[in-house]
Amino acid sequence: MAVPAGVDARVVIIGCGISGIGAAQKLINRGFRNVRIIEATSRSGGRIKTGSLDGKLIEIGANWIHGPSQENPVFRLASHYQLLDKESMSEENQSVDIGGLPPLFSTWLSSSGEKLDADLMAPAVEVFMTLLRKSQEFYNTSKAPMSTVGEFLKMEALHISNKEWKDDKTKKLRQALFSTLLKLECGISGTHTMDDVDLATFGMYKSLPGLDCTFPGGYEGLINQMMKELPKDIVLYNKPVKCIHWNSFYRQTSSKARTHPVTVECNNGETFEADHVIVTIPLGYMKKHHNTLLDPPLPQHKLHSIQRLGFGTNNKIFLEFEKPFWDEDCEVMFLVWEDEYDLQNPVSDMKTAWIRKMSCFTVLKPTERYGHLICGWIAGHESEYMETLPEEDILHTVTQLLHRFTGDSTIVVKKLVRSRWFHDPYTCGSYSYVAKDCSGRDIDNLAEPLPLTGLNAEPLQVLFAGEATHKSFFSTVHGALLTGWREADRLLSHYNLSARTITANL
Ligand SMILES: Cc1cc2nc3c(=O)[nH]c(=O)nc-3n(C[C@H](O)[C@H](O)[C@H](O)COP(=O)(O)OP(=O)(O)OC[C@H]3O[C@@H](n4cnc5c(N)ncnc54)[C@H](O)[C@@H]3O)c2cc1C
Repeated sequence: MAVPAGVDARVVIIGCGISGIGAAQKLINRGFRNVRIIEATSRSGGRIKTGSLDGKLIEIGANWIHGPSQENPVFRLASHYQLLDKESMSEENQSVDIGGLPPLFSTWLSSSGEKLDADLMAPAVEVFMTLLRKSQEFYNTSKAPMSTVGEFLKMEALHISNKEWKDDKTKKLRQALFSTLLKLECGISGTHTMDDVDLATFGMYKSLPGLDCTFPGGYEGLINQMMKELPKDIVLYNKPVKCIHWNSFYRQTSSKARTHPVTVECNNGETFEADHVIVTIPLGYMKKHHNTLLDPPLPQHKLHSIQRLGFGTNNKIFLEFEKPFWDEDCEVMFLVWEDEYDLQNPVSDMKTAWIRKMSCFTVLKPTERYGHLICGWIAGHESEYMETLPEEDILHTVTQLLHRFTGDSTIVVKKLVRSRWFHDPYTCGSYSYVAKDCSGRDIDNLAEPLPLTGLNAEPLQVLFAGEATHKSFFSTVHGALLTGWREADRLLSHYNLSARTITANL
């Protein structure tokens, strides 16, 4: 078979999230003429999804640019398209180095309806943040004292509090606050419990400088701008891919006939032939469908890494009010359950206690843009259970929670919108994490193209991108974008096209 010159190679990208769009943009900019994106749903953006509540924009998926500074490609793109406000673009904002944890004006609310004294809580926050930083220092050292971040944080936090804090009431309150911060960390890591997150590799995730910022016009504005630069009909929507048949035999029927090693088969029976397929399907979907998604099936080591790596759920519950019940400068309200001082798994009975897993509410700012809107964060199996409940039930439970923690039973929630990432059939969760006993090697395995090198077959038939395939920026938008570019680069260098830009024949 004649090998197609790069620009003529047929490339099918599966998934129209930012990694797929990024890969397409790069290939097309470098002259590839046969690029197609096949998307299961009716929209572009995947986990970047801007919705609305009473006419106000809300982010159902990704919220922030984490580390908005020059090294972050999402920041560079957003700046290029002029999608950010002045403050986010400022040198000052870009140079803030907070190690991934934005300093917020916090209010601490207790389960007995009291506002806890911030000065009383500060030592516990300080201890927790120090331990969190410490848990990142074991990466590349072989010195991790135990296997998971959860075990380490809990053991050290209890040890320090028993040693340092003599007043029993204060100690228990601060320990209960550790429980809240552990729940918050579950959301950040996208896991059910920090006991599932590997300690030795926790520091593999890299934070970039810059104070996290949002898109005033919605994150999807970025997707819209990127899509404008792609050919109009490049995406085939509403076509869930059922199976990628690779290593197919060639059928050379005439000298003009094009034959291709890969055939992508959709649920509706349609097929698309390709020289290369870039899979950007989320890890959650791959975990569920790996046995039918590829034919021949995935090599064992790739399959094991897919099974071992973590992919958990983090959801948001947006609540709108006629008037605020929080202080004007408050940016986040943490919920401290006073009986959780022993740091055991807080939820025993899912039906009655799922709401305990909600760590905090962030206040959407500025008020002129959002009115009186807050966002509750809930991760793990409780979050997945929440997705199954009717909205009225959630509204009722959340209202009771607010009454209890504020001591104000007159609070009325006007409207509610929640995300449901676990039950989204094409995502099956929120984002990836490095689970217990996993390492960077598992991410390398996931990203490794097929067929494996050394086999006598057409190279680079199936390539893998998407947030879960980035070793230091997994779980983020910038990580996802970089993986799309990485796989496009892989094809460009395969065809020796990396150095030049071919636009003449487009
Ligand atoms: C609640 C939440 C909050 C987040 N917050 C942030 C944040 O603040 N900052 C940040 O940087 N990141 C955040 N993230 C993570 C970020 O959104 C993702 O890492 C990123 O958008 C992933 O992009 P992707 O292209 O890898 O995958 P996706 O965006 O998931 O794209 C994959 C696409 O593949 C499609 N697909 C799946 N299966 C098939 C199939 N069989 N056939 C065809 N198409 C298929 C899907 O429909 C989807 O469109 C958040 C995510 C969630 C869920």
